[in-house]
Amino acid sequence: MLHDFAIIGAGVTGTAIARELSKYRLNVVVIEKLSDVATETSKANSGIVHAGYAAPEDSLKAEMNVLGNPLFDDICKELYIPFERVGSFVVGVAGDNFDFLEKELQNGLERGIPGIEIIKDVNLIKKMEPRITDDVEMVLHAPSAGIISPFGLAIALAESATINGVEFHYNSPVQNIEDMGNFYIIDCPTRSFQARHIVNAAGLFADEISRMAGDFSFTISPRKGEYLLLDKMEGFINHVLFPVPTKKSKGILVSPTIDGNIFLGPNAKDQESKIDNSTTIYGLEEVVQGGRKIVPSIPLKETITNFAGLRAVSDTNDFIIRASDNKPRLFHAAGIQSPGLSSCLAIAKRIIEIIKEGGVSLELKDNFYRSREKPIVFKELNWTERDQLIKEDPAFGNIVCRCETITEGEIVQSITRPNGARTVDGIKFRTRAGMGRCQGGFCTPKVIKILSRELDLEEDEIVKREARTKYFYGHTKDFRRHKDATA
Ligand SMILES: Cc1cc2nc3c(=O)[nH]c(=O)nc-3n(C[C@H](O)[C@H](O)[C@H](O)COP(=O)(O)OP(=O)(O)OC[C@H]3O[C@@H](n4cnc5c(N)ncnc54)[C@H](O)[C@@H]3O)c2cc1C
Repeated sequence: MLHDFAIIGAGVTGTAIARELSKYRLNVVVIEKLSDVATETSKANSGIVHAGYAAPEDSLKAEMNVLGNPLFDDICKELYIPFERVGSFVVGVAGDNFDFLEKELQNGLERGIPGIEIIKDVNLIKKMEPRITDDVEMVLHAPSAGIISPFGLAIALAESATINGVEFHYNSPVQNIEDMGNFYIIDCPTRSFQARHIVNAAGLFADEISRMAGDFSFTISPRKGEYLLLDKMEGFINHVLFPVPTKKSKGILVSPTIDGNIFLGPNAKDQESKIDNSTTIYGLEEVVQGGRKIVPSIPLKETITNFAGLRAVSDTNDFIIRASDNKPRLFHAAGIQSPGLSSCLAIAKRIIEIIKEGGVSLELKDNFYRSREKPIVFKELNWTERDQLIKEDPAFGNIVCRCETITEGEIVQSITRPNGARTVDGIKFRTRAGMGRCQGGFCTPKVIKILSRELDLEEDEIVKREARTKYFYGHTKDFRRHKDATA
């Protein structure tokens, strides 16, 4: 089958583009190397929808961030994605470069960022953010900054694109691309795709995809950021708290997540490997020190996990959003480092403009479905609603994840929805089962059983994330027999 568009990569960029393209009468396929959406950079980041003052002047990063931020309200309502404009502080303490804060304020004012201001009244700052360091002298306050689940966003965008006819193919790493004159053949290990146009949204590997297609115009390097995630502490802090930034990154921040946890991080370390997302004791110490500078009383005993994400830094240090210079029908959404999450909705719209400017005629559908069915979140219901739901479907009366109060009904729902979960991590990112204090210690075996039942697979066929992250290698007795035989 010849597709009109193949999008390579299903992070926030690829899924936002997929949804945008699904508004048109087109045949669109998303080709993803891993087993689900948001499995690389889009799953491990700060989850902040930045206000837009920070990116350098005249950069695509700044333009896309400023255009992207206001788009979140409507789409989050349409697709039932939790999103909160909690606002951000850049926290100036003695010794910091306060001119920098004034410059950021000017940027913000020139870019029309709503409500941006510098607050110098320390009593007011303390009232707004009681646990902020006593060394605070002023803050840059941007009320339009928000918090969101980055994988929740990608999952919702992908579901919406699926409802509107986009095909998603997982476990399909693109290994070769051949230009056949008026279409491309895109080879993956177990099958090939044919598409007139390609949108390259392959994150850290976008340079490799570009090279496969014959465009050698840019490179991508990884920059690691490490995090500590603390248990839920609603109200411990109210805003996203940044330090005054460095040249390389926005610095180590302390922030609430949309689910009520607190995180510290990220640091910024350039590295060679595009797959090494391990954390180190040194990196985490740096994160702790950075976090304590802003919130000294941060209770580290509440730490439940640590993780790292890799930024896809292009050689221009800016987003690459353009048609290829030398390959026809190839479009890049590459080098999407921070603020890529904040920008993804605007990047998707910009890609459509570029496609149209390239002479491709796009015709809007009459029957684009803007919304999706509201996911049931058991713990958000009142007692009467819970009672009613359990009467209708007793699976909602069975709590599977005790830390996060996630029911069997919600797990089944996350499997049976369009573009539903197929792995234990797929369940975790859709429902939060396994994301709480015990990190899946109690619920993982139950989740495996439910996946096996619903997908009609053997339990030992259920994986954490992808084929190589197996839970089971055989029955204990088989191992004993093997050991006895080889003894
Ligand atoms: C530490 C850190 C903190 C950040 N914090 C923020 C923040 O708070 N706010 C913000 O706005 N931005 C933030 N970002 C940036 C944001 O996370 C990224 O811009 C965004 O996730 C990029 O999404 P993407 O879809 O372009 O890339 P990805 O999420 O990496 O998606 C690319 C996809 O392409 C797939 N792929 C790769 N190669 C192939 C292949 N050969 N075949 C098929 N598929 C392939 C991958 O498997 C992957 O799923 C942060 C980034 C990091 C690392």
